[in-house]
Amino acid sequence: CGVYGVFGMDEAANFVALGLHALQHRGQEAAGIVSYTPDTGFNTVRRLGYVRDHFTKQSVMDILPGRMAIGHTRYSTAGSKGQTALRDVQPLYADFAMGGCAIAHNGNITNADALRSQLIDRGSIFQSASDTECIVHLMARSIQKNIPDRMKDALRIVEGAFSVIAMTRSKLIGVRDPMGVRPLVLGRRGEGWILSSETCALDIIGAEFVREIEPGEMVIITSSGLESLRPFEDRDPRFCVFEYVYFSRPDSVIGGLSVYEARRRIGVELAREAPVEADLVCPVPDSGTPAAIGFSQASGIPYAMGIIKNQYVGRTFIEPTEQIRDMGVRLKLNINRAVVAGKRVVLVDDSVVRGTTSRKIKDMMLDAGAKEVHFRIASPPTKWPCFYGVDTPEREKLLAARMSEDEIRTYLQVDSLRFISLDGLYRACGNPAGRNVAEPQFCDACFSGEYPIEPTDARARGCMK
Ligand code: 5GP
Ligand code: SF4
Ligand code: MG
Repeated sequence: CGVYGVFGMDEAANFVALGLHALQHRGQEAAGIVSYTPDTGFNTVRRLGYVRDHFTKQSVMDILPGRMAIGHTRYSTAGSKGQTALRDVQPLYADFAMGGCAIAHNGNITNADALRSQLIDRGSIFQSASDTECIVHLMARSIQKNIPDRMKDALRIVEGAFSVIAMTRSKLIGVRDPMGVRPLVLGRRGEGWILSSETCALDIIGAEFVREIEPGEMVIITSSGLESLRPFEDRDPRFCVFEYVYFSRPDSVIGGLSVYEARRRIGVELAREAPVEADLVCPVPDSGTPAAIGFSQASGIPYAMGIIKNQYVGRTFIEPTEQIRDMGVRLKLNINRAVVAGKRVVLVDDSVVRGTTSRKIKDMMLDAGAKEVHFRIASPPTKWPCFYGVDTPEREKLLAARMSEDEIRTYLQVDSLRFISLDGLYRACGNPAGRNVAEPQFCDACFSGEYPIEPTDARARGCMK
């Protein structure tokens, strides 16, 4: 998901809408904004669909006045599968004795099921299926006198990955979980403050990047400035390495490293680890593009656009009939025949999850007359589900959980197939010595199976086998 918050700027909700639009890649299912003014109190609009479908209309933005607003773009994750219901769309809002509070959360709470049943036993009435609602109920049960203290209480009980933005009548609050699995950055525009999942959403409103919210940090922004607190026990940070591979936008900067540059270097590493004789390097657009550029630069094999993506097909493209659904990848990607016919082609993609994309693309490549097809994948084999906010399917649907690299190559019927090594990925992401086995610098559980945060609910559901 994407989260965004603005404090101390006229027409704050308009800026939030722009920020969410720049974070659309983090969630296309739904979006919401809550604004606050002393006159009208908290105002909420939550809708299914893209940000631009709703938050560009004057009639909608008129509902959201004020100099303070937060927003969310939704992507459903582990435990919240299926059609998004409007009641699950964030920001969530709750009234407490000391005033209201709106909350937007990116990540996934790994003990949400366990907490939910305890809370229901003690009388909480849940309004949604969202794991985030646990935070609200835990805040309601806290005996603290103010909202930030109640939030601290609640966030010390939840486990998992969370970058949270909250808003009260006078405060904008940002928190990152102790390991900082999901990103959150701080920006400034004039006198105003901005919290955002990624730096690309600061750029869109001309805000200046100040710094990242640190793992385990809570910032409270009021009209008298910013206060930084450390409500959790110190942990070693474990940022999600998949944000570099796929999830974040290439024009964002994380940990001082441009996401584009990390991806380009992944391609360089891949060319070194798994060289191949070929005529062309082509990305599977858009996610494979920077790595393909790096592969081409390092190998000297010319880069070409062998696959063209239809820019108007989103991930949530509605597939109305069986006949159209069968078209699958064709709806989104087409082979550029004139470029690939008669050529030995290296195809670079970010990841193989179920293997459906790779298989279809390989068939289409051969139909278009490519002589050889070599896959180079910009992440290690995805063998384990993510329980921290990225929507990977259950283990049995992950191709690499069932097959070795060689078996995948045979299954895909390609001339060669190689994944980047975990060390190569770490090198590309700014750790020249590779993965420190004793203390890995990132979360890489979907590749290594080493979960830095206990997936309590998943284990109880038997998902860890
Ligand atoms: P596959 O067809 O192997 O199941 O999926 C691989 C493709 O899905 C890759 O091209 C990649 O860009 C895309 N992908 C990778 N991670 C995710 C994810 O978390 N969610 C979605 N919807 N797509 C992803
Ligand atoms: Fe990121 Fe993978 Fe860890 Fe999930 S399991 S947080 S996708 S590295
Ligand atoms: Mg892709």
